[in-house]
Amino acid sequence: MESTPAPLPGSSPGEMFPVLTPEQQARVLAHGRSRNVRSGETVVVPSTQVTKFFVVVSGRLELLRLSDSKEEVIAVCGPGMFTGELNVLSGRRTFVRIRASEPSELIEIEREALRGLVQTDSELSDIFLRAYILRRLEFIAREIGDLILIGSNHSLDTFRIKEFLTRNYQPYSYIDLERDAEVQELLDRFQVAITDLPVLICRRSVVLRNPSNPEIVNCLGFNEGIDQSHVRDVIVVGAGPAGLAAAVYGASEGLDVLVIESDSPGGQAGASSKIENYLGFPTGISGRELAGNAYAQAQKFGAQMLIAKNARGLACDRRPYALKFDDGEKVPAKTVVIATGAQYRKLSLENLSRFEGAGVYYGATHLESQLCGGEEVVIVGGGNSAGQAAVFLAQTARRVYVLVRSVGLAESMSRYLIRRIEESPNIELRTNTEVIALTGNDHLEAMEWRNNKTGKVETHKIGALFSMTGAVPNSAWLEGCVACDGAGFIKTGSDLSKEDLERAKWPLARAPYLLETSLPGVFAVGDVREGNVKRVASAVGEGSIAVSFVHQVLAE
Ligand SMILES: Cc1cc2nc3c(=O)[nH]c(=O)nc-3n(C[C@H](O)[C@H](O)[C@H](O)COP(=O)(O)OP(=O)(O)OC[C@H]3O[C@@H](n4cnc5c(N)ncnc54)[C@H](O)[C@@H]3O)c2cc1C
Repeated sequence: MESTPAPLPGSSPGEMFPVLTPEQQARVLAHGRSRNVRSGETVVVPSTQVTKFFVVVSGRLELLRLSDSKEEVIAVCGPGMFTGELNVLSGRRTFVRIRASEPSELIEIEREALRGLVQTDSELSDIFLRAYILRRLEFIAREIGDLILIGSNHSLDTFRIKEFLTRNYQPYSYIDLERDAEVQELLDRFQVAITDLPVLICRRSVVLRNPSNPEIVNCLGFNEGIDQSHVRDVIVVGAGPAGLAAAVYGASEGLDVLVIESDSPGGQAGASSKIENYLGFPTGISGRELAGNAYAQAQKFGAQMLIAKNARGLACDRRPYALKFDDGEKVPAKTVVIATGAQYRKLSLENLSRFEGAGVYYGATHLESQLCGGEEVVIVGGGNSAGQAAVFLAQTARRVYVLVRSVGLAESMSRYLIRRIEESPNIELRTNTEVIALTGNDHLEAMEWRNNKTGKVETHKIGALFSMTGAVPNSAWLEGCVACDGAGFIKTGSDLSKEDLERAKWPLARAPYLLETSLPGVFAVGDVREGNVKRVASAVGEGSIAVSFVHQVLAE
């Protein structure tokens, strides 16, 4: 590319727009065909699904996007360079036109053939994948796309749409109503009333007024071209770390994998600003980056994904099983991996999300204990996880307040933990008490709590709150198809008792495999599983292990 945007930090134009050697071009040609094009001929039309990409052998291709009703050249591919970005992997719609600016000789490669190429040629796989990811990041950084969001930073729906687009790696331009004086002109042009906000202008033509996430997906065509009728080897429900791992391992081992995600890929981990305890990332990695890489990796191996599609039920009375959706559609599968995670019970405080990961924590590990060493901390909750956290944090914190709404701990916490709390001079139990307000700027700085018996409100300058009020597994949608514990976590493997299996009418002579539920060929992994350690690493581990048992079930 001769006219290329400035590189991203940590990358160079050569990595984003590499030039393939003649020898590498010959290897690509083995997966495609030669094609000669005239000057001015369009080879890719905007807003169509990506079905092919090109390597320039000689001549020149221009990449154009529509800007202010005219086409603007955003990059030029010269000899040895190739077109495409992440949507070559996903097959989603493109927003650029690609046109020859002079007579050119090209290698044309079908999107499906790229999969074979990246799976068999690791050198080319690295070059393509890296370039595609970097180009998408560049588009996001430069807001090069065909989406315009008009909203307000004070609106929850604006925040929702921004988060959805960001977590789906979708470049967009944002216009803030309160800051941009020219916005009224734009709204008038599209006949949008202030009451319709936020507005998403999709593909620069379709105007969506406060769209739901599925409406955005429909407009962008995310789920187009995914066949929902044929029987899949495995359907993975949930695209958090556990589901993405199952997708990567399943697809890379040749299985026909479909992932169903009700929101965006990444799950809870996608919301984590920095994961510092994941193996191999000594300086930490943001949940978004980890999830984004895993998402691209799963697609590279051929896993398909339905985004913003909620699994509402499992038809579990016959095989193949079928996943049921809100709109009544069904997708059949020989095996199913349930990776729907859990939701931490959250305190109902208006600005809670602002401080999550910045003073409000859902786990008390060594990492968090270091963050608040020598400080005062607050733990909310009266169960064993709260008790363990109190005892643990008391080793490093100056003072630990344990706040419970009940009259005491006796009914909710193990006796040994209550004794340790009583014996720790720096743990202070406050009963009948709840947090009512959080304050701070970028980080939690202070909080208020109220004694519901006396009505007394106290303000404390404390910057660490551990919310240990339990997690609710996302398993209700299974409507009793698999055995769960009292809290709704799915039982698997040897945790399934004889009675569980009798009740579930387990039909096989063999016992359930590790991670297999009370339904043969249906597995549960990650936070939704009973006994799971609530960590990214264990979710990823379980997702990958489940795939080896999927193979065994498919061979039965
Ligand atoms: C703020 C925060 C910080 C954290 N920090 C760390 C950390 O630093 N280190 C660490 O190891 N762990 C951390 N964790 C825990 C870690 O994120 C989880 O253990 C991990 O994400 C669990 O992965 P999972 O795939 O099992 O579930 P999830 O990440 O919960 O993913 C489940 C996915 O399933 C989807 N889903 C749910 N129901 C349906 C349905 N019916 N149909 C389709 N899709 C559905 C959800 O939308 C979601 O995307 C943190 C958690 C939080 C909340």
